[in-house]
Amino acid sequence: MGLGIRKEDTVYVTSGKFRGRRGRVLKVESGKDRVLIEKINIIKKHMKPNKAYSQGGIIEKEAPIHLSNVMLVCPKCSKPTKIGVTVLDGGRKDRTCKKCKEVID
Ligand SMILES: [Zn+2]
Repeated sequence: MGLGIRKEDTVYVTSGKFRGRRGRVLKVESGKDRVLIEKINIIKKHMKPNKAYSQGGIIEKEAPIHLSNVMLVCPKCSKPTKIGVTVLDGGRKDRTCKKCKEVID
């Protein structure tokens, strides 16, 4: 796993329409540097009837946000922070909070 933002992290949106909001990461689109955040950046999509939506109509779903527009919310101090890296004995790397210096698992 990378040392950046991961699924299930809570993130803080730093720019755009949803600036200042926090949400849980549903998915990191690896290679695209984008994340889906629960209830953030909801778009309405018109669907034709298909297997999953037999009625068709309008559905609401999250659209991805670029990673440069979000910051990790530290689970220890609950502040938005940049992610630091601590190298442990044996070479294992842990993410750390740059604000409170605690290890973020
Ligand atoms: Zn912290």
